[in-house]
Amino acid sequence: SAGKKVAVVTGSNKGIGFAIIKELCAKFDGDVYLTSRDEGRGEAAVEELKKLGFQPHYHQLDIDDESSVLRFKNFLKSKYEGLDVLVNNAAIAFKNAAPEPFSEQATLTMRTNFFNTYRFCNIIFPILKPHARVVNVSSSAGHLLKIPGDHDVAVALRKKLSSSDLTGEELVKMIEGFVNAAQTGNHQELGWPNSAYATSKIGITALTRIQQKAFDNDSREDIIVNSVHPGYVDTDMTSHQGPLTIEQGAVAPSWLALLPPNVEGPKGGYVWYDKQIVDW
Ligand code: NDP
Repeated sequence: SAGKKVAVVTGSNKGIGFAIIKELCAKFDGDVYLTSRDEGRGEAAVEELKKLGFQPHYHQLDIDDESSVLRFKNFLKSKYEGLDVLVNNAAIAFKNAAPEPFSEQATLTMRTNFFNTYRFCNIIFPILKPHARVVNVSSSAGHLLKIPGDHDVAVALRKKLSSSDLTGEELVKMIEGFVNAAQTGNHQELGWPNSAYATSKIGITALTRIQQKAFDNDSREDIIVNSVHPGYVDTDMTSHQGPLTIEQGAVAPSWLALLPPNVEGPKGGYVWYDKQIVDW
């Protein structure tokens, strides 16, 4: 398969990720990998798509399991000599009525949605090929305005997060600060929203800007990353409250995944389901 292009969507056995796989199977010129942490759920999803006439490939991938990530990376490297399209879609969200204390929700939500997504990128980015496209699925909850208020702490937090000088290491420290504060419940005093999910997505949007800056200075040509709010979608995560279908939720992420070579933009942008680039 050397020379053949390859696309990957994390957490794609169901929901928006599953619909992105469908869209990529229809439009991407190369192999498309549906991935899942649970092999049974992944293979059932592949069977469902095959019945619809699509031909996705499958590989196990749990972004919370470093050995799973490394296995997958080695697989891509040996079979395809790299990666052309990556959609970081996998994430978790606690329900409003979840019994777990906020401290635990904060630890687990940040672990998967931010820290392990970041680790996955750091492991996989070295094998991205020239013209690679990366899509980080964020949310409207990842808008900087979700850090409310005009008091000094909030102003300073927004300023630091949106600074073009912010580094990945500094961002990690800030998010660790949120998790630590959440253990005692004083995260709001530090300016953070009272939501682990929102904070995880703010982190992803900030990370995207940092990642694009690094790609702009990379010897590999024309690598683009954007974050995207897919819209409010009818999935398990929203307890099926979202008005959009998973196919509608897949429109903007798929568009960004398939941006043609040497396109002007968007680059490092915060893009919404209607393809508008939103001022973060
Ligand atoms: P779902 O809960 O339907 O799907 C989430 C997917 O991520 C599942 O396949 C799940 O696997 C997988 N996943 C979770 N943890 C891991 C992990 N550690 N490793 C690999 N896969 C994992 O959610 P949605 O489809 O609604 O959400 C997809 C993305 O869109 C998320 O990033 C979400 O935050 C974002 N989003 C969704 C919105 C909506 O309205 N639905 C709105 C804004 C953003 P499993 O089946 O094993 O649990």
